Amino acid sequence: PLYADYIQQRIRTVPDWPQPGVQFRDITPLLQDPKTFRLLVDTFVHRYMDMQIDLVAGVDARGFILGSVVAYELNLGFVPIRKKGKLPYLTEAEEYELEYGSATVEIHADACKPGDRVLLVDDLVATGGTMIAAARLLQRLGATVVEAAAIVDLPELGGSRLIAGQGIELYTICD
Ligand code: IMP
Repeated sequence: PLYADYIQQRIRTVPDWPQPGVQFRDITPLLQDPKTFRLLVDTFVHRYMDMQIDLVAGVDARGFILGSVVAYELNLGFVPIRKKGKLPYLTEAEEYELEYGSATVEIHADACKPGDRVLLVDDLVATGGTMIAAARLLQRLGATVVEAAAIVDLPELGGSRLIAGQGIELYTICD
């Protein structure tokens, strides 16, 4: 679709960052341009306004930028899923494998309640590990992940397939 091209044109690829060989997709030009930022937020709001979502969860840190404005526009609350050690209250944690080593994401134990229909938001899907770990946290609290949403999917890294294999619906705008 046209809007996807419009959004994709404002995502910059930075070679060899943060490490040699990595082509980092940088969404800051997209956020900086008011028309594109609005188009992005409106795309998500339009998609989710009739899906009976109870809550929006965003993944540290770029998932906060997008997730919080989408939650606000949908008249919903927002829940942060954070990297280890950032949340002050009782937490649930989920560890997952990275290419080198592992990472942990956490959620507050009272962030949602059984039966809540949650929209999970991040900026990008690469290997899918982050999105799957975040979804597991929500599921462990008894919530239903209605859909996981991101701006970018890098399909060659296999994340979207892995996410689908976990029975999680995924929506992305461009690759
Ligand atoms: P995954 O767990 O391998 O799917 O990596 C996705 C997570 O890492 C998301 O939280 C992204 O914000 C971040 N990430 C990985 N690669 C990129 C990139 O090229 N641009 C922006 N974020 C990235």
